[in-house]
Amino acid sequence: MRWIVKKFLSYIIVLFVVIVALLTLQSEDGNFSFDSLIGSDEFEIHFIDVGQGDSTLVITPDKKTMLIDSGTKDSSKVLIDYLKNIGIDTIDVFVLTHPHSDHIGGAVDVIENFEVKQILDSGFVHTSLTYEKYLDKIDEKNIPFTVVKSGDEFSLGDALVLILSPDKPMEDANNSSIVMRVEFQDFSCVFTGDVEAQVEEEIIKSYPNIQSVCLKVAHHGSDTSSSKAFLEAVTPEISVIHVGKDNPYGHPNKDILKRLTNINTKVYRTDLDGTVIIKSDGSDYSVETTK
Ligand SMILES: [Zn+2]
Repeated sequence: MRWIVKKFLSYIIVLFVVIVALLTLQSEDGNFSFDSLIGSDEFEIHFIDVGQGDSTLVITPDKKTMLIDSGTKDSSKVLIDYLKNIGIDTIDVFVLTHPHSDHIGGAVDVIENFEVKQILDSGFVHTSLTYEKYLDKIDEKNIPFTVVKSGDEFSLGDALVLILSPDKPMEDANNSSIVMRVEFQDFSCVFTGDVEAQVEEEIIKSYPNIQSVCLKVAHHGSDTSSSKAFLEAVTPEISVIHVGKDNPYGHPNKDILKRLTNINTKVYRTDLDGTVIIKSDGSDYSVETTK
């Protein structure tokens, strides 16, 4: 009888070991699994391929999350599936750079699907139905809503976020975009929304030292943005353009691509590279793409 109990126990132990081994193996198959995210202790930026629109996720080593923009309504399923797939259930800070539909279009679905703890908004009021629905949803869920301005700063877990713009109410939605610099030890990235050259000029006047490792190229690579002076002030090693394939705006502009080549930055584009993921331990970094 005792022998049978011992044998039974050893079977249980073997079964347990096999299950643990299988789970461990599963956690290693790709960078997009839940286990991989939980296991990662790096600072990560995911420039998510949402077609012609912006959506970028920042994850700190201590698992704080900031989502910057939400793409269009049409791409919201892609965005939500992506976020769920990498194990996101909470968005600590949800930044809507400005109220155009290629930035706030997926916001309602994001708020429906994840626990959003804080909204940061540019303060630019839009009359569109998309904007109205976004405000209604924030009200309904009672999410803290803050309008940020140049000079504001906050910690996102181990990272520091400094707001570079807007510094005053603007008449134009694009130029109202929240521009920010995120810093994690020696790694840094500037996120520009859709600001144009005149705002870039004000930013470099107020913040001459914004050299950063990475840059989210403004306004999908439009020629109204990415002035030579701004690009030279940031001198990014990596530049990422959120852009849809065959978009009707001709983004990214050829001259802007040339300007980026001239500053010796490595350019990634979501239309050609898919989602672009940068991971950093605070000094070194690596870049992965899904295409
Ligand atoms: Zn845009």
